[in-house]
Amino acid sequence: MALVVQKYGGTSVGDVERIRNVARRIGRTYDDGNDVVVIVSAMSGETNKLVALANEMCEFPSEREYDVLVSTGEQVTIALLAMCLQSMGYNAKSYLGHQIPIYTDSAYSKARIEEIGDKNIREDIKNGTIIIVAGFQGIDRHGSITTLGRGGSDTSAVAVAAALKADVCEIYTDVDGVYTTDPRIVPEASKVNKISYDEMLEMASLGAKILQIRSVEFAKKYDVVIHVRSSFNDNPGTLVMKEDADMETVLVSGITYNKDEAKISVIRVPDKPGIAAKLFSPLSAANITVDMIIQNVSHEGFTDLTFTVPNADYKKALKIVNEAAGTIEAGGVVSDEQISKVSIVGVGMRSHSGVASKMFQTLSAEGINIQMISTSEIKVSCVIDSKYTELAVRVLHDVFGLAKEATEE
Ligand code: ASP
Ligand code: MG
Repeated sequence: MALVVQKYGGTSVGDVERIRNVARRIGRTYDDGNDVVVIVSAMSGETNKLVALANEMCEFPSEREYDVLVSTGEQVTIALLAMCLQSMGYNAKSYLGHQIPIYTDSAYSKARIEEIGDKNIREDIKNGTIIIVAGFQGIDRHGSITTLGRGGSDTSAVAVAAALKADVCEIYTDVDGVYTTDPRIVPEASKVNKISYDEMLEMASLGAKILQIRSVEFAKKYDVVIHVRSSFNDNPGTLVMKEDADMETVLVSGITYNKDEAKISVIRVPDKPGIAAKLFSPLSAANITVDMIIQNVSHEGFTDLTFTVPNADYKKALKIVNEAAGTIEAGGVVSDEQISKVSIVGVGMRSHSGVASKMFQTLSAEGINIQMISTSEIKVSCVIDSKYTELAVRVLHDVFGLAKEATEE
């Protein structure tokens, strides 16, 4: 007998029929002799509608009331799911965040979970009740409702699993697991059987939108094994877990891409102390996250500085950089929105050499120019012209042998 935590995302509970399907799966897990705690998201599209309503109501909705509003989508699905399970003959009970309670800090719309009280649910579990918890929400120490950031139900699930020391944390979604790359670009992309927390963090932050990043950080911290799988079939999914020896034998675990960045270069920057600070401080003051930064070797006392920012902040960033460039007497600013970042990720890179050069050779063989490069222990990213994104992903997927035949066990 195990304690199983299951989380169902928006598409899995997208309508009444799908909720029935989820209830049947939960019922089966319970009938197999397990204790079951379920976390659900709002029906797909509902949270977006609530966000749109808030923005229609006023330009700057109060953060507290925003969370009161956007957290309501989950109240609908927990009640419907509990009703459905009851009609099937199970004891089931829904819980809002504050009824658990799931305590968070007071950072509305991006709150962090601080503590979970497990007394209420433990008692219900003991009596054979299936617990249905609203994801995405919590309560702060002043009693106000908070939400955990978009996609936050994943984090709710992992946090509940950690608090209850659950045996498994299954995250059900509309895909079979984590893939070696986007199957829309490479139909031969294969499902990864297991992936380390660090690889998943790189994949998530590089654009593979399967799990909320925070949920993976949480799982890593508390050693929760996450099983990402589909609610529409019984195929085993992907285990997100602590690194083990076989993971190192694979050179590259996945290829990701991100088209949501733009590149800004400041030309002929006087090469003296304090310049980078003058350029980047106003950007960080405006809450713009700068991703890659490259400074060229200086030539006759001048250098060029190039960096990337999210597309959404591009216009704002350009205005700030133009002003700063004037102050530091730089030669000028040039920018390009038509770029994308393609990355290879894998813990195997730590112990194998030549992975980066293989990536560069592969891109150059296709005539793709690399505009910027950045690396970490377990990834290499290249900025390229965005029109080559799909081609780059395809050839890299191929050269690192990630197609189905190559990785199937
Ligand atoms: N319903 C929330 C959202 O759409 C939380 C979640 O789905 O995880 O972001
Ligand atoms: Mg999600």
